[in-house]
Amino acid sequence: MPVTISIPAPLRQFAGGQSQIVVEAKTAGEALDSLTSTHAALRRHLYNDQNVLRNFVNVYLNDEDIRHASGPDTPVKDGDTIMIVPSIAGGSAIESDVKEALPELSNEEILRYSRHLIMPEVGMQGQRRLKAASVLMIGTGGLGAPLGMYLAAAGVGRIGIVDFDVVEESNLQRQIIHGTKDLGRRKIESARDRLRDINPHIEIETHEARLTSQNAMRLFRNYDIVVDGTDNFPTRYLVNDACVLSGKPNVYGSIFRFEGQASLFWAEKGACYRCLYPEPPPPGLVPSCAEGGVLGVLPGIVGAIQANETIKIILGAEDLMINRLLLFDAWTMKFREFKLRKDPKCPVCGEQPTIKELIDYEEFCGVAPHQAPQPESKLDEISATELNARRLRGDRIQIVDVREPHEFEIAKIPGTKLIPLGQVVTRMNEIDPEVEAIVHCKGGVRSAKAIEALKRAGFQGRLINLKGGITAWSEDVDPRVPKY
Ligand code: ZN
Repeated sequence: MPVTISIPAPLRQFAGGQSQIVVEAKTAGEALDSLTSTHAALRRHLYNDQNVLRNFVNVYLNDEDIRHASGPDTPVKDGDTIMIVPSIAGGSAIESDVKEALPELSNEEILRYSRHLIMPEVGMQGQRRLKAASVLMIGTGGLGAPLGMYLAAAGVGRIGIVDFDVVEESNLQRQIIHGTKDLGRRKIESARDRLRDINPHIEIETHEARLTSQNAMRLFRNYDIVVDGTDNFPTRYLVNDACVLSGKPNVYGSIFRFEGQASLFWAEKGACYRCLYPEPPPPGLVPSCAEGGVLGVLPGIVGAIQANETIKIILGAEDLMINRLLLFDAWTMKFREFKLRKDPKCPVCGEQPTIKELIDYEEFCGVAPHQAPQPESKLDEISATELNARRLRGDRIQIVDVREPHEFEIAKIPGTKLIPLGQVVTRMNEIDPEVEAIVHCKGGVRSAKAIEALKRAGFQGRLINLKGGITAWSEDVDPRVPKY
């Protein structure tokens, strides 16, 4: 019977460079014997000294592992295909080599990637794998910036970017994919232009959208690897679940102030994000980077770690970050690593999953869709212009600033009293209950919380929230007060 044997890329050099060889055989064992008698060098890669198939080599007859069938005696039929799949290099990349031929590199590309090509870990084969690979980046912010730039520079053939934001001044302290000239532009356009400039040999696909339960599966299906560069819990759980359900590796990174985390969640091979964190923290407990700040270089480091891991997956490296959680402290310059374990009770990747399709992640994380948390009861509010008019009129008012001292140093409204949100209840006696108090923060959310807290603590005076905080003051009243 004529049987086709598919030779994996790493072994083709021992088979005269051929990807497929047709042999005559009645059983799988005979087919392999026939193959290795004409290509003797292959034999020592496939068999040990006892003439037994090496245990890191899997042989599939059509889609069946012959170890699970009758071994070498498994009979073959006319037109069957035998596939040799060595597990040495991590699996997926090699399997895809077997299924499709890798793209060739042009002379220009060979010159561009020469520092990769001379490394045995990459070489021509690895660089062609990079060219054949596709990666979807969620977000082009702090993490997405170095990630996208390094993936593009490395020659990842197709990069998809999902974002819906525009470039703002306060992004530029860390989102180095965007420049000052891009202020006000859509981030996907700014990022696409930068990546094209870095490497014109690759394809950039832009998806201007918020990632949702409605579009995630359709987007993920078209890429080999998904990299999570999000900054909020609903999207993080959405990315995780959609990766588990579509079988994609999820290269994870997160940042806060000067602490970073990174891992590789790949449900087929180990833990997922939900195995680590089954449920999100209650809303408001963990501040976002917009509230808590982030050291600008930190996403640079964590995003570069994600890029490194993504490239390792494509190259079929061993020692991936599966079941490993890396913690990085940029302030003490310390890396620590924790072992993770797949949770058999995990609701999405466990033995009896309860999540079989994407859910409503904003509801799951307890946040109202696309808006800042609203105070429980109706607040008295005042606009920046009205406040200014009252001050100029000489009204008897007091202004309480509930931001942090380091924010007060950046910008302040003259004649205000600073009591940070965390101290507002214990220092309540510093606010005169006989005089109307205007409470402000940066944007109006923390001051609303402060008013709620004061009312709950029994404060008797009148409290009014400054709508839009000091930012509105700067925009509408006094542009000399810097925005931050
Ligand atoms: Zn899981």
